[in-house]
Amino acid sequence: MKPTHIEHIGIAVKNLDEAIKLYQTVYGLECYAVEEIPDQKVKTAFFMVGQTKIELLESTDPEGPIGKYIEKKGEGIHHLAFAVNGLAGALDETAAKGVMLVDKAPRKGAEGLNIAFLHPKSTFGVLTELCEKP
Ligand code: ZN
Repeated sequence: MKPTHIEHIGIAVKNLDEAIKLYQTVYGLECYAVEEIPDQKVKTAFFMVGQTKIELLESTDPEGPIGKYIEKKGEGIHHLAFAVNGLAGALDETAAKGVMLVDKAPRKGAEGLNIAFLHPKSTFGVLTELCEKP
């Protein structure tokens, strides 16, 4: 596996509207999509910075993964996402190298991407997402 670029950086926030405002008024970025992912109990907002996106994540349920994350660690950078070609193969290769996987097979993420997470215990505390355009 060799990532082609950083696809996005996921940032956990308590209030999506307020966070969107910061990215728009301070950084002058345009929010080009807001999407709710019921599966993940999360509402997301996207900004493009060069070829990398900022993905703001607000929990829609305190028991969801982002809700629990904020309760434990507070707001901030939640995960790093690499774009890869051949996600299923990359996952097999990663597992074979002894890295713990959160997702053993690709699943659907925001923006229709195929995604899978690696376990932060295996990646020096960084929740890492691999994603691929379908
Ligand atoms: Zn992500």
